[in-house]
Amino acid sequence: MTAGRESFGKGGGGHRIDGAGEEISFGESLEQSAERVQRALHKLDAGTYGYCDMCNTVIDPARMEALPQAILCLSCRQKVKNAKTQSSTG
Ligand SMILES: [Zn+2]
Repeated sequence: MTAGRESFGKGGGGHRIDGAGEEISFGESLEQSAERVQRALHKLDAGTYGYCDMCNTVIDPARMEALPQAILCLSCRQKVKNAKTQSSTG
């Protein structure tokens, strides 16, 4: 009888890919982002630029700076995002 050493077969190394952009996803079509820019321009025209499209709250200036075409505040954006992921995975 041989007392072999047990090798742990568990724990295969997995690699995960991190590095997803926060707002700009490459899965988004050019058409979609163009549409959003258009919308932001309309808001600029209407004088509601910088205000959330959903709750009319002032969007964080830092956010506007980072994402000039933003039409939703962070919390509304998050809501939409959540709703989208839920429906797409469901
Ligand atoms: Zn909002």
